Amino acid sequence: MTQIERARTGETTEEIREVAAEEGIDPETVRRRVAEGRIVIPANRNRSARVVGIGKGLRTKVNASIGTSTDIADMAMEVEKARVAERYGADTLMDLSVGGDIAAVRRAVMDATGLPVGTVPLYEAFSTAIEKYGAAVEMPAELLFEITERQCAEGVAFMAIHCGINRRTVEMLRRQHYRYGGLVSKGGSYMVAWMEHNNMENPLYEHFDRVVEILKRYDVVLSLGNGFRAGAIHDSTDRVQIQELLINCELAETGREMGCQTMVEGPGHIPIDEIEANIILQKRMSGEAPFYMLGPITTDVAPGYDHITSAIGAALSSAYGTDFICYVTPSEHLGLPYPEDVREGVTAARIAAHIGDMIKYKRRDRDKEMSMARRDMDWRKQFALAIDPERAREIKAKRGNGDSHTCTMCGSFCANEILSGMFEEDKKGSDKE
Ligand code: SF4
Repeated sequence: MTQIERARTGETTEEIREVAAEEGIDPETVRRRVAEGRIVIPANRNRSARVVGIGKGLRTKVNASIGTSTDIADMAMEVEKARVAERYGADTLMDLSVGGDIAAVRRAVMDATGLPVGTVPLYEAFSTAIEKYGAAVEMPAELLFEITERQCAEGVAFMAIHCGINRRTVEMLRRQHYRYGGLVSKGGSYMVAWMEHNNMENPLYEHFDRVVEILKRYDVVLSLGNGFRAGAIHDSTDRVQIQELLINCELAETGREMGCQTMVEGPGHIPIDEIEANIILQKRMSGEAPFYMLGPITTDVAPGYDHITSAIGAALSSAYGTDFICYVTPSEHLGLPYPEDVREGVTAARIAAHIGDMIKYKRRDRDKEMSMARRDMDWRKQFALAIDPERAREIKAKRGNGDSHTCTMCGSFCANEILSGMFEEDKKGSDKE
């Protein structure tokens, strides 16, 4: 049985207990939300990995996507990226490899990390079809299911599967005269090309029950992928994006009823004034299935800084109710990320998730402690509370002023130093609040 099926029988599984303990929530609340499909726990029964809960009432989680491309397929670098992502605090990893020996990279990544690992099985299927049959559009539909099952058996914890692309959504894309930014999902584009070439329905939509049955055997979380996410601000929240969201929300409900843990993926590129609407729609239409947002990127004009454009979007989306965010690195739109980009991306996304949770849950204790540590110039405590203590320590040490309590920002004009020793009695009052 899957986590959702067990929770429905009233069982509080070991994983539910772990999530509850980690989040400081009552296990019965977690069990009830797992049973309702409002929380998912990606814990493939064939692989032991860190137990992470995603969904209602839980800390916003951060995914780091890594993986080879057809131009750069360096397994050692992918392993290093996995380790960097884990070290800097990612909650999950996605191996999105499309180049080199995809299966070997995935296995190496899973061996190198204790994090739950997600994939997009379409990538391996289309890549295998190119190798074996000379073109992605020649892929036999059966291959999709075989590869999905193989990846499940290896221990993949969650899978982005593009079930929401169907002939109606493709027709809608045509009727709205395509898009400024075209299609930006690799799997989505290949699937549309396959459907057009073969004049057939998407097998993942047509045989959705089969997809669910495969994932259920291993208790893999089905993440309903968004092949029609907008890849340009001017395309955001268009009919085709919302049509796919509608289908995905419907499928999330069907999958859940069949006993499969499901979540729904969101865009993409969106201006900040459309983020809330996307979240309200997804939550209402899916019965509050966990929402996994890719960023979102909030402007198209900052290549080199898309970890920032997406962190702004991710902070807002987390505040409005998104449960899971995928990081974006500074190399987005420019090249395959290197390990240093992974560090930047994970840290930016973790900051965004924290900012969102401060609003979503009114959780501000850590910020309050940091404020007091700054006021008291307690550097050790400041580093301990920092999201990236290593970076904070490095900067302080490099621009240091010896044993001084202050830092070189203001030197002898340090406001904290000027007032140190004063207001001691008053502080006791404010520190208690
Ligand atoms: S020198 Fe300025 S920035 Fe540094 S601790 Fe003092 S007040 Fe803060």
